[in-house]
Amino acid sequence: MSRPNFSSYTIEELLDCKQNIDRERWPERYQEILDVLASRVEDPTNKAEHDELIFTSFCEELRDDLTITIDDNLWPIITFFSKRLRRSVPSTFLDEVCPICASELNITQRFGSWNIACEKCDMSYSICERRAYF
Ligand SMILES: [Zn+2]
Repeated sequence: MSRPNFSSYTIEELLDCKQNIDRERWPERYQEILDVLASRVEDPTNKAEHDELIFTSFCEELRDDLTITIDDNLWPIITFFSKRLRRSVPSTFLDEVCPICASELNITQRFGSWNIACEKCDMSYSICERRAYF
């Protein structure tokens, strides 16, 4: 395996490597990825792209959790019968904070999709519930 030239990677590729690299096996490569990313985000345009990618993948991960939570708790059925509960937030979202600034997220539901927003970062993302039908 030839040594990867991380400085030629896009931010998206770098984040992907950072997430998937075997850190135990390639500690110096992992560090190199961190270093390249750190120098890349000194440019505000890159920083915006970087933050958006982080926020988006964070929300996509929440979507996966949300599917499981809803299946486990039969959440859609419960909310169907309760207007009060329909306004509640599933446990998936509790204690979650913005992956960028760690401040509280503003989570709202509209037409079966969840909008996750951080006012501080001026970032928002919508995820649809994947419902399980019986
Ligand atoms: Zn934030």
